[in-house]
Amino acid sequence: MTPSLMYANKSVIGNCTVYHNKPLVKEFKVELDQAVMFLKKSEIYDPNYKIDICLNDGSCYPTFIQLFQEQAFGIGFYNKVIIMGKINIENNYTEINGYNYNLIKLLTHESIHCFQFNKLGLWKSNPIAKYPNWKWEGYNEYVARKDQANLRENITNLNKSIEKDKDEWGISFADSTFVGKDYYSWWILMQYCKDYKKLSYQEILNDTTSESKLRAELMEWYKGQKRN
Ligand SMILES: [Zn+2]
Repeated sequence: MTPSLMYANKSVIGNCTVYHNKPLVKEFKVELDQAVMFLKKSEIYDPNYKIDICLNDGSCYPTFIQLFQEQAFGIGFYNKVIIMGKINIENNYTEINGYNYNLIKLLTHESIHCFQFNKLGLWKSNPIAKYPNWKWEGYNEYVARKDQANLRENITNLNKSIEKDKDEWGISFADSTFVGKDYYSWWILMQYCKDYKKLSYQEILNDTTSESKLRAELMEWYKGQKRN
């Protein structure tokens, strides 16, 4: 599992060790700094936790890890973040099948998985703990998209995108990057619980209210917002 044998280079940036085959372009540090800025806003951020970031720039490591995983833009487990999509650092995205995912958001999302493991431990983390996706994935999108804080607008965008093409898997943002509609809907439910119900992440993990009940509550809130 050690990436160091499968990469030509490594660079240490803050608490992260970045494994890469090609020379690391200067934009990467800027993007990682931005991701860390988002991470620091999370209640499970740990300034002493060190993370390995493995880029998909020619090493066979991401391909090797892919053998055990579903296709994904990236993976975060234990203290490792692995970028799986075709990486374009200069333009801040990774690509799979013609769809781009914002690289800063991806670095943030996958790093939060590492902080979840760090905070909760293996037995209280997914897949073992079996938290619903909106709690396990929605929180990561919530932290990564702290700059898209208008919940009412976010719900309107999701509704519009479902009306426009219900078979399209993803929803696009202003920078032409995408996120799956499932992830988007998990994100807004988490945003509602965090920003409006003011629950801590641990309270949300412990809470037994069903996802469908919370969604109904969120839609009531949204209708109320539209009337105001
Ligand atoms: Zn994830």
